[in-house]
Amino acid sequence: MVDFALNEDQLQIQKWVHDFAENVVRPAGHEWDEREEMPMPIVQEAASIGLYGWEFLLNTMQDPTGLTLPVAVEELFWGDAGIGMAIMGSSLAAAGIAGIGTPEQVMEWVPQCYGDANHVQLGAFCVSEPDAGSDVSSLRTRAVYDEANDEWVINGTKAWITNGGIADIHVVVCAVAPELKGRGQASFIVPPQTKGVSIGQKYKKHGIRASHTAEVVFDDVRVPGRCLLGGKEKLDAKLARAKEMGHTGEKQPAMSTFETTRPTVGAQALGIARAAYEFALEYAKERKTFGKPIIMHQAIAFKLANMITEIDAARLLIWRAAWLGKNGGFRNGEGSMSKYKASEVAVRATEDAIQILGGYGYTREYPVERWHRDAKIHTIFEGTSEIQQLVIARNISGMRIE
Ligand SMILES: Cc1cc2nc3c(=O)[nH]c(=O)nc-3n(C[C@H](O)[C@H](O)[C@H](O)COP(=O)(O)OP(=O)(O)OC[C@H]3O[C@@H](n4cnc5c(N)ncnc54)[C@H](O)[C@@H]3O)c2cc1C
Repeated sequence: MVDFALNEDQLQIQKWVHDFAENVVRPAGHEWDEREEMPMPIVQEAASIGLYGWEFLLNTMQDPTGLTLPVAVEELFWGDAGIGMAIMGSSLAAAGIAGIGTPEQVMEWVPQCYGDANHVQLGAFCVSEPDAGSDVSSLRTRAVYDEANDEWVINGTKAWITNGGIADIHVVVCAVAPELKGRGQASFIVPPQTKGVSIGQKYKKHGIRASHTAEVVFDDVRVPGRCLLGGKEKLDAKLARAKEMGHTGEKQPAMSTFETTRPTVGAQALGIARAAYEFALEYAKERKTFGKPIIMHQAIAFKLANMITEIDAARLLIWRAAWLGKNGGFRNGEGSMSKYKASEVAVRATEDAIQILGGYGYTREYPVERWHRDAKIHTIFEGTSEIQQLVIARNISGMRIE
């Protein structure tokens, strides 16, 4: 049965997030973009209503249709993507833990990625490095086991990390057996106040400037054995199989996290695209040239028609991927398809919105130029558009296309 109707719970959550986005997030978007700072008061406010927190994540993850999270995220990013990312950034770390951690590790560390309304905490998911972004199999950050002390010693530099260096919990993907490339990696929790963790450069970015992105340096960082996600026994078995067979057939930890989070990243882009479309539609009805509203010029009306068609197509791909993620798994890279399509649609829709607003669209007086800058990151992080195409191409062909 195909049913596109959201259930009562989902409709309520959609409205609840939309109200927060409309009343709190959107009015603050311009200010925090200009300040290029993490909007902690707004994250705090999101925590106080339960939108920022592990219970919210758990609630959305328990939804058997898989749609609640993308529906909520679309609304949040409709408000503002920089602030939206500041609120969502910890979820990538939480998803990294939930994806491969033992139940005990999930219970211990996921709540610490958020803290509570009285004391907000942050999580960061650290995969990328200066020389390893798309090519996550060539990570250089090393984790070496110190058996005598049952500790892992981590050394390396992570690049482009959302909440990097300011997070309480860093989830770090490291090479433990570099000769096995992607098959020789493991993920570790680096608990709060661990010695040897420092922040490198904070990047000055094109968009989502309210979200903090920085390098994180790990210098002889020692974490207890229990911080290895999934546990030592499982890792040893995986490495032994990889050594025997050349590969295990298992996905790398980073890759599996990314695949399941892709529809949600698509939903972020979708929220921006919809914001731009709605704004441009209203503007086009008001703005007059040659004696009539510009929407009466077919060139503008058709642009808007194309925008909404593409936005709706992206949403259908996202909802399908979110549903498949919960009910039967991906077959042809549907998670990648949804993120690829939605991010490209967002870049195009925000550019069209600027065009529809003309000169005004190009200024900071109107939000569409910010939305255009914000949209662009979605074709880059969590796998570039080219990498999404690679995943889809490998899935449909069964071949190792490089
Ligand atoms: C604002 C921001 C936030 C981020 N947050 C995080 C985070 O929280 N955690 C984290 O781990 N990382 C994060 N990243 C890193 C992000 O995931 C990487 O930037 C991204 O994966 C691309 O890697 P790269 O920058 O090294 O580009 P490269 O991998 O060097 O790619 C450069 C170009 O080559 C193309 N390319 C590369 N390989 C291929 C191929 N095989 N076929 C075709 N084309 C190819 C790419 O598509 C791209 O166009 C963030 C990045 C930014 C900018």
